Amino acid sequence: MEVLKQKLQNLTQNLWWTWRPEVRAIFRDIDYDLYLEAHRNPLQILKQVDDAFLDRRAAEVDIQIRTDRALRQLEDYLNPVTTWGLVHAGTLNSRPVAYFCMEFGLHESIPIYSGGLGILAGDHIKGASNLGVPLVGVGLLYHEGYTTQQLDASFWQHDVREPVDLADLPVWPALTPDGVPARVSVEMPGRTVWAKVLEAHVGRVRLILLDSRDEANTEEDKGITARLYGGDLRMRIQQELLLGVGGSRALRALGITASVYHLNEGHSAFAILERARHRVQQDGLDPHRALKESAAATVFTTHTPVEAGHDRFPADLAGLHLKPLADGLNISIEELLGFGRVNPGDLGSPFLPTVLALKCSRRANGVSALHGEISRQMWHHMWPERTVDEVPIGHITNGVHVPTWLAQEINHLLETHLGNTWMEAIARPDMWTKLEYMDSAEFWETKQVLKARTIRFIRERVAKVNARIGLPPIEPPPLDPDALTIGFARRFVTYKRPDLLFSDPDRLDRLVNNPERPVNLVFAGRSHPADGPGKAIIQRVGTFLDDPRFRNRIVFVENYNIHVGRNLYQGVDAWLNNPRRPLEACGTSGMKVIMNGGLHISILDGWWAEAYDGENGFAIGNGEIHADQEVQDQRDAEALFQLLENVIVPMYYDRDANGVPRRWLQRVKRSMRTLAWRFSADRMVMDYVRNCYLPAATASSCQMPPP
Ligand SMILES: *Cc1c(COP(=O)(O)O)cnc(C)c1O
Repeated sequence: MEVLKQKLQNLTQNLWWTWRPEVRAIFRDIDYDLYLEAHRNPLQILKQVDDAFLDRRAAEVDIQIRTDRALRQLEDYLNPVTTWGLVHAGTLNSRPVAYFCMEFGLHESIPIYSGGLGILAGDHIKGASNLGVPLVGVGLLYHEGYTTQQLDASFWQHDVREPVDLADLPVWPALTPDGVPARVSVEMPGRTVWAKVLEAHVGRVRLILLDSRDEANTEEDKGITARLYGGDLRMRIQQELLLGVGGSRALRALGITASVYHLNEGHSAFAILERARHRVQQDGLDPHRALKESAAATVFTTHTPVEAGHDRFPADLAGLHLKPLADGLNISIEELLGFGRVNPGDLGSPFLPTVLALKCSRRANGVSALHGEISRQMWHHMWPERTVDEVPIGHITNGVHVPTWLAQEINHLLETHLGNTWMEAIARPDMWTKLEYMDSAEFWETKQVLKARTIRFIRERVAKVNARIGLPPIEPPPLDPDALTIGFARRFVTYKRPDLLFSDPDRLDRLVNNPERPVNLVFAGRSHPADGPGKAIIQRVGTFLDDPRFRNRIVFVENYNIHVGRNLYQGVDAWLNNPRRPLEACGTSGMKVIMNGGLHISILDGWWAEAYDGENGFAIGNGEIHADQEVQDQRDAEALFQLLENVIVPMYYDRDANGVPRRWLQRVKRSMRTLAWRFSADRMVMDYVRNCYLPAATASSCQMPPP
């Protein structure tokens, strides 16, 4: 038994298991109750499982054989004969890309993400791993765990903290080339803050995480990495210093010479300054030359389409915290603060890390074609002498890591039609053309199985929450498994308009309760703990759930996270996205639905503005923007109702003699064929390699003196 436990332990140590459903299933099958209780965290399961019990289960469900097979596969994965990266990104091998982000969403049991940005970062490093692109992730380890959403009887969101024991995470001290645990220090006002350098393995990619709970720190400083987006501006700038400056130093401490820094959001922008400072101190370079060199090797991605969404630090706070970097660079603090101001001469105006990143990186991009355009308009005032089109911000549209989000059943179907190794060619459009020949009835059957599972999952969740908040059980259980089922899950924030359909409850009643063509609606989503208006929308949606007209048709699933998301994406027939254009930078949840055979119904915003071709999903409206928000909301609601009533619902219920919705499935196939490859993490990472990483690596090495 000890041997088996050790093998299982080894399996947990590489987060490869997070995108291998058959490996996750090993831990599920050890003890299903424990699996749920332990939040599906394999390490916690191993810690708690009783040896005799494991022994018995091993015999019952072939744990031994499955574990040996998984370990062999992992070994093969880690030692590939060749990869896309070896062929196309070989020059990055000795000097990898460093991918900086404030959050990484890898699995629901690892509490270092909050939402879309983190999950994108997780999908990016998983994609880089699959392609064999040399890349290291750099982030922070938040030791106080998550806030989870708990609703009360009035449907108000409470944010409950669930501490996580780091011993239960597959994260361990990263070692210096001399074999000792690495630590880094960062100068902060009046003191030095230390951080431990930890690491996790995500397939072939290392993820470096900083933890400020170092013995040398005061209690207060130990708290810097306690909570993601948890504190005030002072806390935020200290976290950002730790991420940018500490992260760069951690790479050096580990002997990793990064060729390119890929900074996501302004959060890690101080890395640019630290890299230049090091060159000034180490090699005696002129500061302006060092900054140029650092810029040449930096790729900056902005993910936020509204100006208010970008950090801005008051001048005195920024001055206090950035003084050591200015000293190290041999420049004045005023000059340094000028890098974070649109007009350096505006003394006293706030410091924006995004502005620093835009000024001091050679390549910048938004995360969809439309978001690139919006970003060029938004930051045009930084380049007043240029036209909007000449503003140096391009775009690379986001994509999602297919193996993480795909239902196993769909994978098996695709193996039949696209070949067993289809996952190695996800980003190749020609491979997907074979979907034309897939039998619709066969696909429909698979989709019905997934949908039944999703509805079971939702009913269980809803029943549990109702029991907790003292509502009677819903009888009969909500959601008709044969009804068109539309999902809507995202952060609840005003601009995403989660309550758009509730603007006309009578019309909504007629829509969902049509006896011939009923519709289920599934909502999920959290608001930021400090977002009162967002929480008020959850509450507003909650008032309708109690309405006898909607009780069996519309549900809200508590605590949207990776686990809840995966369960929804895989089973729904369609996915709804109705933000106020152009406020959605990209959006990625719809991509996860499409690969699982659902259709996207969306405003022409974010990725959908470039993805929709008239037949691969549905567009709400035509992309027009009205200056008056109220008019815009009315128009979009009208367009959405009409689309549902006249197009979507009739198409879904248009069946052949065998009850198969041929026209609907034609559209599903077209959607998978035209979109799955294009909005995959593989395609996204390849774009970054070709358009950003390789040029930046070449440019930076040209300017480096020979070693
Ligand atoms: C994909 C995902 C997101 C981001 O999706 P959007 O479409 O950008 O809202 C957020 N949360 C979870 C849990 C996800 O899986």
